[in-house]
Parts: sequence; C-alpha cells; structure tokens
Amino acid sequence: MNMMNFKNNRAITFLAGFGACLAVLLVMGAKSPEAPSPVKPASDRDVYYPNTEALGKDEMRVIACGTGMPTTRAAQAAACFLVELGNGDKFIFDVGTGSAERISSLQIPYDYLDKIFVGHLHADHIGSLAEIFIGGALMGRQKPLRIWGPNSTVPELGTAYAVQKMKEMYTWDLAGRVGLVDFRGYSLEVNEFDYKGENAVIYEDNGVTVRSFPAIHSLDGPVSFSLEWNGLKFVFGSDTYPNKWFIEYAKDADLVVHECFVAAPDLVRKMRFTPEQALLVGTQIHTAPEAFGKVMETIKPRMAVAYHFFKDFDTTASVNDRIRTTYDGPLSLAEDFMVWNITKDDIRVRMAVVEEATWAPPLAGKPQPPGGDPDREKFSKDAGVPVEAIKYSDFIIGGRWGEVDEVLRGVYKEASEALGQEFPYPESK
Ligand SMILES: [Zn+2]
Ligand SMILES: [Zn+2]
Repeated sequence: MNMMNFKNNRAITFLAGFGACLAVLLVMGAKSPEAPSPVKPASDRDVYYPNTEALGKDEMRVIACGTGMPTTRAAQAAACFLVELGNGDKFIFDVGTGSAERISSLQIPYDYLDKIFVGHLHADHIGSLAEIFIGGALMGRQKPLRIWGPNSTVPELGTAYAVQKMKEMYTWDLAGRVGLVDFRGYSLEVNEFDYKGENAVIYEDNGVTVRSFPAIHSLDGPVSFSLEWNGLKFVFGSDTYPNKWFIEYAKDADLVVHECFVAAPDLVRKMRFTPEQALLVGTQIHTAPEAFGKVMETIKPRMAVAYHFFKDFDTTASVNDRIRTTYDGPLSLAEDFMVWNITKDDIRVRMAVVEEATWAPPLAGKPQPPGGDPDREKFSKDAGVPVEAIKYSDFIIGGRWGEVDEVLRGVYKEASEALGQEFPYPESK
C-alpha cells in the first residue's frame, strides 16, 4: 500500500513535471514570433547606448555625469546631472570635478549644452566649469556658455565673482587663441540670482521653468533647483543639510536627486576623518543616509536618487541599509552614467555604456574660419583679450628652427592639392 502510494506519488510528480514542461513549451511557442532575431538589433536592451534612442516628445531623460565626492577618483566624477527633454532642451545641473569627461563621452553637440545651473561653488560642484567652457568651445560650441548660480552675503562669495575669476585665470589661454579659433564659444553669460529666493523662477523658456530655493550648506549661498516641463518635475538638491524648503518645494516631483553622504563610520575608516569631523561633516554640513531617507519618506517622490557617496562593494550596503531605516520607497543609489527615462507612466532606470576614447561630437552649426566672425570684437571683449592676435616677441621668433620649413611646406602643399584651395605657407621671418 505504502509502496503503491509512493509509486503513485512518483507518477503524479512525473506527470506534473511533464505538464509544467509542456506549459513552458506552449508559452515559448506562443511567444516564438517575438523571439530575438539572430541578425536584427535587439528591440529591448536593458542598457542605454547614447545617441541610439529617440527621446519621446513627452519624455525626460536624466543622466548622472558625476555622483562622487570632493576627493577625486577615476571611478566617479563629482556632482553633475544632465537633463534632456523631449522638446530638445538640455540642462546641466552642477559641473563637479571630472564631469566634463563624462559629458564628452555622451557625444552630444556642445551647442546643445549651453545651459549650466550651479547649486553652490564648492569645487566638487563647479570644478569642471573651465573644461566645459574652453574644451566645449574647442569641441564645437559656437555660442556663449550660459551659467545660472546664486549670490551670497557679499559679492566675493557669489557666482558672478567665481566665474569672472575663473575667466581671468585663463587669460593666457584665451589670449593665445585669438586669431586661431572661432571665438563665439569662448564667451560666458552669468545669471546670478538671489540665494534667498523661495521657489523663485530663475529660468523660463520654451515651456521649461527652473526654480531655486535655499539650501543649508557651509555658508549662505547654496541653493537647490526644480525643473518643470510638460507635467514632469525634476529636483536637484546640490548639497544641503535637510531643510524645510526642500521638503516643501520638492513635493510632487517625479525624480528627486538629493545628496546622501558617506556614512560616518566610513568617513573615519576610508576618508581618514577624525570621529568629530566625521560626525560634523557627515551629519551637519551634509545629509546622512538616515536623514536622506527621512526626507524622501516625507516628500515621497516617484523616484528618489541618492548621490554624493563613493559607491563601492564595501560601502554601498551600509548606505542602503541606513536609508532603509527611514524610507522604503523607490530608490536609485546613483553612480556615474546611471540613466533615468521618465514619462508620466514609467520611470526606467538603466546604466549607459559610453565610449571613453571620444573625439569632438558632431557640430550643430557651421564653423567660421579663425578671425572670420563679424562680432569677433565683442567676443574678444567678453573674453577679456585683445581683438588682434598678440605676436611672439623677437626673442621667441628668433628661436624657430627653420629646418622644418621644408617638411611643413609639404603639408601645406598636400592640403592645397587635396582641397583645391591655395593655403599659403606662413614663412619664417
Ligand atoms: Zn558642497
Ligand atoms: Zn559636494
């Protein structure tokens, strides 16, 4: 009897297994028309390859181009988030150290990357500004770079001062380019606004509204931003201690990026802080993971994005566990090249796979030959350099080694023949 039952059980198990296999085969059979093609591109890849996907007209795409810390590392650039909209507009929020390389990896024409919003003036939030200013112009930006940033209690602590001094730091660089390059991209437009503005509109164009509200971080001046377009809302915190403005103005947002600092014990262990410094910096100047969770639990975004910590195999779990003591909603622990595609119905999170060995991306406009711009006087004045190229001194000119003239004449001859246009060789004097 027992044996019989055993046998029956085995038979039943066998039949059940067979039935399950049959069901799987039937399901597979039903799906066979959609089976991946061995020769066509895959229709649904769980990765983002830049410049291979159309952005829907109701869609927002956000790409993390820097998620790290003030201490530089190759694995993570410092704060930078790119927002791309279905209407064609693109906005950069913060340009921390190392982020310019991330941006160039996306191979977006630089004329489309002319709007930068800076939440505060720490190096890990503006450290790549000069690279985007000068490198971006060299890679094809043919219009001024526009920067929005807060003022502070005195002019010397404001964005306009920082940008002016950065430009002055590069006086030699800019002066040396006169007469050699199209100068339209070497111009800066600074829009400094009141850091005390509470949900104040600082940008409004083409259906896009950017607002600013105060943040609490280091000194008076830092702000957070919201960007609203087409019923979608993106919020970027820059750096801040949890504050009442963020709680109020980040409400109803789809994607909320807020700093989430390294957990205090790791600041001691990995960053070599003293315990006193770790507690002060990690919980009072910045937002501790537990506090980040509390903020998100209160504002309940469709997706919370934590950044501003080094995301390593031995530190991520601690940040996650600490956030989860206070927040159980949707969460992305950001790292460089994380991508969010946002529509009213869906938020899709993927990683981008980018080309690191990039050259200049395609140009959005026609380049002008050196010195050919009718407004070059204006642009030279903006850059703070003479209109005409500054010549070498006789001392330096006297050091030119004329023995290479012969071979370089050959290069000019080759270009003249190839392009059907005479390029006269600038003979050594
Ligand atoms: Zn900061
Ligand atoms: Zn920071």
